[in-house]
Amino acid sequence: MRLTSAGAARTVTGSCHLLEVDGAKILVDCGLFQGGAELQARNRSPFPFDPSELDAVVLTHGHLDHVGRLPLLVSAGYRGPIYCPAATNEVAAIILRDSAKIQEEDAERELRKARRAGREDEVEGPLYTSADAERAIGLLQSVPMNETFTVADHVRVTPRPAGHILGSAYLVVDDGHARWVFSGDLGNRESALQAPATPPEACDVMLLESTYADRNHRSRAATEAEFEEVLLGALARGGNVLIPTFAVERSQQVLYQLFRMTRNGRLKHLPVYLDAPMATRMTRLYQSSANEFRPEVRALLESGTDPFEPPGLAYTVTPDASREINDVEGGAVIVAGSGMMTGGRILHHLKHNLWRKEASLVVVGYQARGTLGRAIVEGAQRVRIYGDEIAVRASIHTIGGFSAHADHDDLLRFLEPSRPERVLLVHGESDVMDTFADDLRGRGYQVDTPELDTPMTL
Ligand code: ZN
Repeated sequence: MRLTSAGAARTVTGSCHLLEVDGAKILVDCGLFQGGAELQARNRSPFPFDPSELDAVVLTHGHLDHVGRLPLLVSAGYRGPIYCPAATNEVAAIILRDSAKIQEEDAERELRKARRAGREDEVEGPLYTSADAERAIGLLQSVPMNETFTVADHVRVTPRPAGHILGSAYLVVDDGHARWVFSGDLGNRESALQAPATPPEACDVMLLESTYADRNHRSRAATEAEFEEVLLGALARGGNVLIPTFAVERSQQVLYQLFRMTRNGRLKHLPVYLDAPMATRMTRLYQSSANEFRPEVRALLESGTDPFEPPGLAYTVTPDASREINDVEGGAVIVAGSGMMTGGRILHHLKHNLWRKEASLVVVGYQARGTLGRAIVEGAQRVRIYGDEIAVRASIHTIGGFSAHADHDDLLRFLEPSRPERVLLVHGESDVMDTFADDLRGRGYQVDTPELDTPMTL
């Protein structure tokens, strides 16, 4: 068998792994590279394989860094099925449509800028269009969770819940001779929404994510207490509280936390804006997916109480409704994307609030290198937003425990029961991966960290 990682190899984003076995070619995920310009440029590079020769694509979950290059794969000739659990099908469709829109808008802005500079010939055009995204969405094919299906000749795949986000799965791939596990992204066992993954029983090779492999998260109780303390403290300062979030899972986790705080009487009713059209669409999907969640969340949804709708919540969908929030100088909680502050409506809220001493920024998500969020978290005194210099005077808080990712101990819990012969670490920053690789070698595992676009024969 041969494995070629065309993404998430010694880096976090761009997950895309080609498995060649018994003459079959199966692609697991096809994600977008996100982060600095150098990473993003990789999205324009051709795939290190011929997409038209693939037998099947199987998705672990709908995050952009796992599905965002599907439109490019289809444009490059792929016409086969893209298998995924039903909830991932819906998440992926929302994510891909949004991504295409952002690509089109970015390209439009670049073109306007280039025209003014007389350089319109140098503009590349959008990475892909909405029409490209729709072609990819048209190939999505839902498969039941926990049921085995055949992707090519003797190759069978079973998706099992990964506990990461709505619809997330890890994949067990079996050709009758050997068994591989593709972990996808594994969840935080203490997630308030998702039940933790049940580890695979046995496998020969495991492709294991390593995003947070060098640390353990704070407990859920401590994280929720910290969030509550930070939020109440921030509101007491009188300013607005900005919470940048990812549209999938994190927005709903934050809404659920706010819901519980008001229900328990620890938070008075106050204006909460979910100022993120995609997060709003995603929240609607969460609201209609009761049986995907932990029993307590499911019970609330089934009893007609919406755990994702704290009192005072306003969904601001139109740009005008969003702009009206600029007039609110204090006392509101503004939940907006993007999670790493690289785009989206959070930017205009940062522009209107970051320079105010009484405002607060509560960071509840991972901030990749090269992003505005990372710069702010690392203590930048001034940042540029929409070409303007903005002083960072607001109080900045980072709450790490909300992670939707497995931590060091979660990864070991997932890995140990199956004792694979080979462990291939993916989806992590390279220093984290190297530390974890040594850790696992010390526990008797044979560990490799695949290099980008470099086939490994196993
Ligand atoms: Zn993910």
